Amino acid sequence: MDSVQRVFVERLSELGIHLSEPDKQLEQFETYYRLLVEWNEKMNLTGITEREAVYEKHFYDSLTLAGVTDLRETASIADIGSGAGFPSLPIKIAFPHLKVTIVDALAKRIRFLEEVVSGLGLKDVVCLHGRAEEVSRKPEHRDAYDLVTARAVARLAALNELCMPFAKTGGKFIAMKGSDVTEELDEALYSVKQLNGAFRNTVQLTLPSEGSARHLIVIAKTGSTPKAYPRKPGLPLKQPLVNGAAKVK
Ligand code: SAH
Repeated sequence: MDSVQRVFVERLSELGIHLSEPDKQLEQFETYYRLLVEWNEKMNLTGITEREAVYEKHFYDSLTLAGVTDLRETASIADIGSGAGFPSLPIKIAFPHLKVTIVDALAKRIRFLEEVVSGLGLKDVVCLHGRAEEVSRKPEHRDAYDLVTARAVARLAALNELCMPFAKTGGKFIAMKGSDVTEELDEALYSVKQLNGAFRNTVQLTLPSEGSARHLIVIAKTGSTPKAYPRKPGLPLKQPLVNGAAKVK
């Protein structure tokens, strides 16, 4: 174990995460890092490539989710707009029992993710190319997951419509956000209600070395998704559900 990995393991334990097979899992993180940097030369996956920074701003940051919900008690997770695999792939490495479904609208990112999944030997990970608005209309994905998550995809009012339909009644959607979310949250409360959810809490965190703020917004799914949602592809982003009307931006 080198110093970057030692710091990473220490920080994970502060989040309450103890790797069950540390040698194997640390090797998986390292292979993931290498594939990310290698493929990033051919396609735009991330602006962060320095090793220590990837471990903190992608791997650790993704795993902060475990500080907010008990992933050992979670069976299935859907990651919407996963891009280069965040947050779901670091979560899958640390919690190998999870069944993971990834949805992303960009085919080349899905190809990269499939390469990572096979390169790391991960089981029970499905990478789907498609728009969330369409995938969540399919019965096998609708109202189906214990936990739905998305990091850095859209403003919460729009994101709720993309993500909440995937969560089962009694499940959760956790949005992973950067700095101040107060305004975004106020604006999004209407959509939470429309989509049969209830706002639970916001957890604020700070990235340990880099010091920037993170906010995790926890929304409970209290009933099945109304038939009207999600609206047709593009609409959730173009006309987010706000203030009782779909406001045109
Ligand atoms: N979650 C990743 C990537 C964020 S970039 C991270 O935190 O690093 C946003 C990603 O969302 C992109 O890969 C984009 O293709 C995807 N995306 C945007 N709108 C989408 C939609 N409607 N359905 C599925 N994926 C979408």
